[in-house]
Amino acid sequence: MIAESLDDISPSVRAEAACNDLQGSLAGVYFSEELQDIAAAKIICATCPVMIECLEGAVARREPWGVWGGHMFVNGRILATKRRKGRPSKVLRAEDQLPEIPVPVHLRQFLRSA
Ligand code: SF4
Repeated sequence: MIAESLDDISPSVRAEAACNDLQGSLAGVYFSEELQDIAAAKIICATCPVMIECLEGAVARREPWGVWGGHMFVNGRILATKRRKGRPSKVLRAEDQLPEIPVPVHLRQFLRSA
């Protein structure tokens, strides 16, 4: 999520970021705990021309949370999955399905289980 004013994000990544509307209006979506918001952020990331660079930068900065490069981060690690809080529903909810975006091989060592 580029809308935050993070000075160490490459200017080229910032310029091409699909999430950069110059107003930061998507920040609430990229830093939400709601699965629907996380899914919406990941869908935007999936179309982003700088997704891999963004993900590499987030790993290097050890982003504490949010969606970066199409993936959720927790304490500087890529979170593989996220479930709704509480007991799992017996009926699968469509809004709980997060888009699958593969983690590049060279970054898989930074994956963390839920
Ligand atoms: S990959 Fe996602 S978070 Fe990163 S710049 Fe693109 S849209 Fe923003």
